[in-house]
Amino acid sequence: MSSSGTSSRGNSEDRRRGRLFVITGPSGVGKGTLIGRLLEEVPELELSVSATTRSPRDSERDGVHYHFMDDEEFRRRVADGEFIEHAGYASHNYGTLRSEVDPRLADGRSVVLEIELQGARQIRETVPDAIQVFIAPPSPEDLRRRLEGRGTDSPEQISRRLEVAAEEMGARGEFGHVVENDDVDRASQELGELVRSYLRSGGEGTLS
Ligand code: ADP
Ligand code: 5GP
Repeated sequence: MSSSGTSSRGNSEDRRRGRLFVITGPSGVGKGTLIGRLLEEVPELELSVSATTRSPRDSERDGVHYHFMDDEEFRRRVADGEFIEHAGYASHNYGTLRSEVDPRLADGRSVVLEIELQGARQIRETVPDAIQVFIAPPSPEDLRRRLEGRGTDSPEQISRRLEVAAEEMGARGEFGHVVENDDVDRASQELGELVRSYLRSGGEGTLS
């Protein structure tokens, strides 16, 4: 009773889509740091490169850290339906291109997004089975210190980001998973375990 013509993976018609992970939380909390660790620890996870209208920082390269574009291109691509989500943040636009996500999920590969709150809310509506994780700072003072210590933003930009952060912190209760980034090693471990539990189960996660 051997079946013929089916994929060696079995259940070929039921081939699993990848999982979508959304990592959000205030600017400076350490999302990029934790995601960097996560991608090393969970190599099957792939990062979606976002689009933005802000200027590249010295260390950033187009197509690697962001797809950098001007307002006109961003607006055109929004109108053409190229974004899964997009939002204004601190006077600039940011968004996730479908081309970064849809082909990978369809191919069974899992994807992580690093996005701000408005975008995470949009994904909650459009991709309800996405796994959403809010990264929280130990305190607002830690957040300020991290933004200042990173040295990538002017004092005005830091003030702006801290104002937005206060609002974002109020939304942490909306998220099924909250990881406090008190210590990079500890928080990385918690995030890694969470992600691996979803990837192992393929469907429902086992941690809450
Ligand atoms: P985000 O991506 O959320 O804006 P980053 O990953 O760029 O944040 O981190 C902001 C700054 O805080 C960086 O200088 C980073 O090295 C530092 N940082 C990240 N996590 C921690 C932590 N747990 N404790 C202290 N500093 C941290
Ligand atoms: P930064 O300018 O520090 O790189 O990013 C500013 C904020 O924009 C961060 O909170 C970051 O998570 C968010 N962000 C980055 N890419 C996207 C995206 O594609 N969509 C949304 N909604 N936010 C994003």
